Amino acid sequence: MTDVIVVGGGPAGMMLAGELALGGVDATVVERRAISDLTGSRAGGFHSRTIEILDQRGIADRFLAEGQIAQTARFGSSVLDIGGLPTRHPYGLAIWQNRIEPILAGWIEQLGVHVVRGNQVTGFVQDESGVDVVLDDGETMRATYVVGADGGRSVIRKAAGIDFPGWEATRSNLIAEVGLRQEPPPGIRQDESGVHGLQLLPDGRTYRVVTTERELRTAAEPSLADLSDALVTVYGSDFGVHDPTWISRFTDATRQAASYHSGRVLLVGDAAHIHYPAGGQGIGLAIQDAVNLGWKLAQVVSGISPGSLLDTYHAERHPAGARALRLSMAQTVLQRADPRTAALSETIDDLLMTASSRAQIAARIHGLDVAYDLGDGHPLLGRRMPDLDLDTPAGPTPVYALLHDARPLLLDFGRRRIDVGPWRDRVRAIDVRFTGRWELPVLGEVASPSAVLVRPDGHVAWVEAGTTEPLTDALTRWFGAEHLDEG
Ligand SMILES: Cc1cc2nc3c(=O)[nH]c(=O)nc-3n(C[C@H](O)[C@H](O)[C@H](O)COP(=O)(O)OP(=O)(O)OC[C@H]3O[C@@H](n4cnc5c(N)ncnc54)[C@H](O)[C@@H]3O)c2cc1C
Repeated sequence: MTDVIVVGGGPAGMMLAGELALGGVDATVVERRAISDLTGSRAGGFHSRTIEILDQRGIADRFLAEGQIAQTARFGSSVLDIGGLPTRHPYGLAIWQNRIEPILAGWIEQLGVHVVRGNQVTGFVQDESGVDVVLDDGETMRATYVVGADGGRSVIRKAAGIDFPGWEATRSNLIAEVGLRQEPPPGIRQDESGVHGLQLLPDGRTYRVVTTERELRTAAEPSLADLSDALVTVYGSDFGVHDPTWISRFTDATRQAASYHSGRVLLVGDAAHIHYPAGGQGIGLAIQDAVNLGWKLAQVVSGISPGSLLDTYHAERHPAGARALRLSMAQTVLQRADPRTAALSETIDDLLMTASSRAQIAARIHGLDVAYDLGDGHPLLGRRMPDLDLDTPAGPTPVYALLHDARPLLLDFGRRRIDVGPWRDRVRAIDVRFTGRWELPVLGEVASPSAVLVRPDGHVAWVEAGTTEPLTDALTRWFGAEHLDEG
């Protein structure tokens, strides 16, 4: 028996397992791939908020060392430079998913997460006290909770009977890694069907090909002949395409689980939402789901918080996911180069001429403007805590360095030694000084608070004098009842 079985060892599953381990609960990841290597490069990187979240756990440097920072946010034909936004990482990071996953795998190994490889989960049975997860070899594994991090075709979502409403595909793309006998034209080509491009990968031999098909196709396993046909249709040549190491098809089908939580089952990442890769939202959403759920599930499993804390996972992440899916749909439309879409794109370029409109869209793409509805009050409530350079009793320390162990923080800027009483073991209270400006992406400067309560996911749960909720109520709501330790 383990506390939590995480089905799927992609970005969402590994991030969640790491968060659960930091929260002190046993997590076992079950991954159907026998080896950790991902076939194909897949996603191309992270946006700013994802880098910030990795910084909150002290692992951003591992990714920054292997990737290339760049201004990655585009909307239509506008590239949106976030150099002026208030974040320590005012850029995106270009790094292929097959480099991201080994780094995450190394991190969870360090944290002692148990990973079962080469086993596919086929379903589960839940009862009042737990869940029996069924593997393809007929074995079962028991846990208190199961999390579906098993991608867009999630077996866990289907077995839980959770609806997956949304919009059918209108467009399909082929993506592949191949050899070519002739050199292809450089750059990206955009036409009435969408985008196409052939890019030489760092090994100097393999090309990554992405092409939009003239007609929608949805069969999951495309062939080399399909790829050759699609290239000839766009370029008049298939450039002697041969020896594919990876061919896949993706579409713009956009769907979201009706519920992220049902009984002892939770969903994260692509299992909870799918969309076209335009805008590169997928990994960021997966990581944000995982850090939102991880500490909550750890507290519920440990008996610190009631099961109702898990309702806040759906309440916060479902609207955030829906908003990102709408953004992705808009970006998908703008990839077409027919005259009507070109006219729309030109109008949008005009609208994006002002600094404020550029900042607004850029912050949305980069996930820097996510605001959970935690009630009325100070603008920080529910938003990400900025990574301020603090003076602490231990010396100068950035806020995010104080979140490495995923424990809640009470930052007292008045240095009054606020006593969190019975929550002392769960919440770290620190007297700090900060004399700079408090700036939030899009909103700009906000009033300096005298104390804030920061959740392990880096979102602000309480602001002194910035909400009518007393501190003890906020501590109870998020970090369990005060009498917990007395018995
Ligand atoms: C071409 C392309 C480009 C993209 N570009 C970007 C980008 O630039 N930026 C970005 O953020 N996102 C991008 N994405 C999206 C991104 O790849 C996904 O959103 C991301 O991988 C989701 O992570 P996940 O862990 O939820 O799911 P997945 O990565 O799909 O991981 C699911 C894991 O579960 C395992 N699994 C599945 N079923 C079972 C089972 N029954 N039992 C056990 N294991 C199982 C799978 O083997 C897999 O390892 C792109 C996607 C594509 C296709």
